[in-house]
Amino acid sequence: MKIKMEIEIIKTGSKFEETYEIENNLNPNEYAENLITNFNHTLRPGESPRKLLGVIVLDNSDVKHKHDWRKTNLATITRGGMSYDKMICTRCGVTGKRYGFSSVVKRDSKYKAKIYDTCEDATKQMKKLRERRNKANN
Ligand SMILES: [Zn+2]
Repeated sequence: MKIKMEIEIIKTGSKFEETYEIENNLNPNEYAENLITNFNHTLRPGESPRKLLGVIVLDNSDVKHKHDWRKTNLATITRGGMSYDKMICTRCGVTGKRYGFSSVVKRDSKYKAKIYDTCEDATKQMKKLRERRNKANN
């Protein structure tokens, strides 16, 4: 995605803008903060520290998020010698399970298809299915 950062040169108070193309899975604010922090930590003689005034996402159309998993059960569930946690994505609601001590979440079978890889595609697909179901009921 394309982001625009508004930056102030602290010494002079002058402001300028800079445009960056960054990976879609990055957080624009974090990215910009890190950039400015790094700049300020590696100042060359004569350079003034900078301050980040704001970040705008210019092109957000193809941003896709990986699921943001949260555990939904309090205690780990044990069934048939397997222990797992039930997980849900806080962004799109896709559900899955995390087995044992692994950090990998396996999506539940109804969300197994590749279309459910990202929150945006999953949300679109769920909406489509819901509309189809509603139509069938009418
Ligand atoms: Zn998601």
